[in-house]
Amino acid sequence: RSHIHTGMTADFGSKKHKKSVLSPLHLKGMFINERTNLPVYQHSADIVHLISNNDVVLVVAETGSGKSTQIPAYVHESGLLKISAKAAAANVSSHLPKQKYGRTICVTQPRRVAAITLAKRVSEEMKCIPGTIVGHRVRFDDTTDVKGHNTTKIIYATDGMLLREAISDPLLKRYGMIALDEAHERSLQTDVLFGVVKRAMAARKREPERHKEIENVQLKDDADETLYFEKDEEILIRMKETAVALGLPPLRVCVMSATLDVDTFRSFFPGSSMIKIPGRQYPVQVVHSDQIYEDYIDAALNTVINIHKNTPDGDGSDVLVFLTGQDEIEDLASLLKRHLEDLKNDNSVDQNVKGDVVQNIKGIGTSINSGCSMITNGVLICVLYASLPPEQQMLAFRPKPKGCSRKVILATNIAETSVTLDGIRYVVDCGKHKSREYKSSTGMESLVVSDISKAQAAQRMGRAGRVSEGICLRLYTKESYDLLAETTVPEILRVNLAQVVLQLKSMGIHDPRSFSFLTPPSADSIRKSFEVLAALGAIDESMDLTDYGKEMSQLPLDPIYANLLLQSSKFECVSEILTVVAMLSAENIFYHPGRGGDDQGGLAARGAAAHRRFASYEGDLPTLLNVYNAWRKEASYTRTGNLRKTKQKISKGKSSSALLSHGDWCTQNFINGRALTRAHDVRSQLSDLCSRLGMDIHSSCSSEMTTFYRCICAGLFLQVASRLPNSSQLQVKKNSRYNGAETIPSRGHYKTKIGGTIVSVHPSSTLFGRNPAPKCVVYTDLVHTTRMYIRGTTQIREEWLNG
Ligand code: ADP
Repeated sequence: RSHIHTGMTADFGSKKHKKSVLSPLHLKGMFINERTNLPVYQHSADIVHLISNNDVVLVVAETGSGKSTQIPAYVHESGLLKISAKAAAANVSSHLPKQKYGRTICVTQPRRVAAITLAKRVSEEMKCIPGTIVGHRVRFDDTTDVKGHNTTKIIYATDGMLLREAISDPLLKRYGMIALDEAHERSLQTDVLFGVVKRAMAARKREPERHKEIENVQLKDDADETLYFEKDEEILIRMKETAVALGLPPLRVCVMSATLDVDTFRSFFPGSSMIKIPGRQYPVQVVHSDQIYEDYIDAALNTVINIHKNTPDGDGSDVLVFLTGQDEIEDLASLLKRHLEDLKNDNSVDQNVKGDVVQNIKGIGTSINSGCSMITNGVLICVLYASLPPEQQMLAFRPKPKGCSRKVILATNIAETSVTLDGIRYVVDCGKHKSREYKSSTGMESLVVSDISKAQAAQRMGRAGRVSEGICLRLYTKESYDLLAETTVPEILRVNLAQVVLQLKSMGIHDPRSFSFLTPPSADSIRKSFEVLAALGAIDESMDLTDYGKEMSQLPLDPIYANLLLQSSKFECVSEILTVVAMLSAENIFYHPGRGGDDQGGLAARGAAAHRRFASYEGDLPTLLNVYNAWRKEASYTRTGNLRKTKQKISKGKSSSALLSHGDWCTQNFINGRALTRAHDVRSQLSDLCSRLGMDIHSSCSSEMTTFYRCICAGLFLQVASRLPNSSQLQVKKNSRYNGAETIPSRGHYKTKIGGTIVSVHPSSTLFGRNPAPKCVVYTDLVHTTRMYIRGTTQIREEWLNG
């Protein structure tokens, strides 16, 4: 039985909601048994009823209960959004013409992969072709409305995409319901969406007298600030008038979450209703390690091997390992592969004799070689992290292939709540995650490996109890667990807000300090983002958006990269910068076989040699340009040399770039073809946007590369670091994740221009170990692991910084 809490101000047909009494909805489509077995199904009619009677409904249910896939489908199938505004107000549904607006449901997700997999799954369940009734919309990938304007009725979008849509349409006219999923994650964009959606909802509220929210807002002492506020209020009034003139139906909001800080949401959405659905969770035994591991990858390796040696495999025996990022995941994958091979060759113990894994947990950091039993080699290792191409991510979700008796999934916190993995019985939790962190004191943002919160630890543990009783093996001590924070700090309090402030300003919110944030960021961090935007020329002295700022907001990029792209017009190298920006958004261009010590017959060395052929002396950004240009050159060569064959393949429905991406060229050069294809797609979409802004997308510096470097410098001038004097002899201890000697000369430490932080060039950079180290570099990322690193480095001349 669900726990329903109704709010005080239910809006339409404002009958007070009774306790859960409605019969579940009648479902159509595919996977009916699976769908009716989900915990939310018993409450389907209640949920639709609540949504139809309230502005805002909070749905709290465990991961895997069916929130994301089912609730939008229930609302769609119930026909609730077909009822026109008038009918809704009068609580009658028939004999009225179909309304034009408010017919679509948007479900927002903090992650691309979740939006894509959910849209695919719901399309299958509704037996429709993806992109017709159900589709996804993520940055540079939109499958909606394939059948014509506004034909998709359920859109799974990243929160950033809906935010972008709100810039041109603050009333979110198309939508009748917005479901903000994964609310507990408190991602930056979802947090901002809460305020944006609240504003649209207030403007579309059908009440003769709108309550005067303005009265609740504190007026500032400064007369200027009051003036800004008045401007924002005027905009809201205009939005309200437009909503009435267009006859917009009310906007319904559903906040969905696995765990929820109810008080925060209740006070943000006064009068909202909440439904809590008990999950189907089996007991999970939690085991903490009895020692602190310096290298949790090693501990994770031993734990997985231990599980595999000592527990029965088969259905419902899969292992999910939480690590912090791609490097760690790739390292563990190759180490595991090697050790599983070793196990295969050791058949000294009867495979049917399996011990108790919990007995062994305390000693997991010790050797795994003694007395190991050969179980099987049928283990499938799957990896799952946000920047992995979607097709590869899908492996983790698919049923086990023939000959595979156990899956071991190595994932980042992506597997905590946002995707559902079936069949997991063992969870191995390293207790860390990677997150963006911004220090407003220094104005710098970096990627930091830090401890998870207790709430995250609980979510990770929960993944083990979905199909049967499970075991969660924590690679940290009980004492360390006790010291963890209760919940994760919302991203909005940790990151650089320049992009958010630019977005809010382009939505007509003049003073972001008066914006209704779920948790308001500090005045200091908003001030810092104003400084960044002012430095980039996006706002003027009166904090008004400049024309340049308006152009920047048209590009779906961080303001720094939007500026870099726009600057390329002036330097006449639009073509080159388009490539660089597209390549930066693709990630994982280089394929590193056998990183982490498993060289697989010299492959690692061959890979490194292949990559060196593209390496530019000047650094990483020109290296990316070299890779893309070489690939395109190969493409045109293949096209002319092999035209007929290519034409035949294209006529079978494959694009030429997709053909080439899988070609020998990528394999020979250890380049990730899919990532290149994606970069190519991103590039063409960015080119279209640049054309619309009147830029000459063919302008190219050809062989005159100095203008290219000057442009990089003009674009990334806020991310500059200068070499410290007398630092060329410093050594860094070898990081086991990278190939190389025991110690590697770092040849230079740098100091960032903004913030004055001491940093080193990251080992993955082409400038790493360069002798002599360049005096001055620009970088794309700051990464904080064992020390502060700069990544994506390119050398520049200091004098260029002065214009
Ligand atoms: P929630 O949002 O509550 O975490 P979902 O709606 O995402 O739950 O998932 C409900 C169920 O649907 C899952 O338990 C799983 O069995 C099934 N499911 C979801 N996504 C997929 C998918 N891509 N492929 C197969 N089954 C899926």
